[in-house]
Amino acid sequence: MPTAATVRCTDCAYEESFDSLRHARTAMTDHERETGHVADWAIGRLAAGVERAGDDAGVCGRDGCANADTPLLDRPESGDDA
Ligand SMILES: [Zn+2]
Repeated sequence: MPTAATVRCTDCAYEESFDSLRHARTAMTDHERETGHVADWAIGRLAAGVERAGDDAGVCGRDGCANADTPLLDRPESGDDA
């Protein structure tokens, strides 16, 4: 059974996988409502890449900025002028 989504709580150790996005969303909402915690969810196998892209999207491209080697950032090579 493929994992459609994984719900994780940022305030406690709660973590559960679901084969339905709807179930995951419901569980996340229920957990937040019952505990007052803030939960997050990751969509199936795309999760790692989506999270990486999300991190990369915040990169400003200046030297010293985190994650400067992201493939999403098209930095000009030094000495690459035609
Ligand atoms: Zn929690």
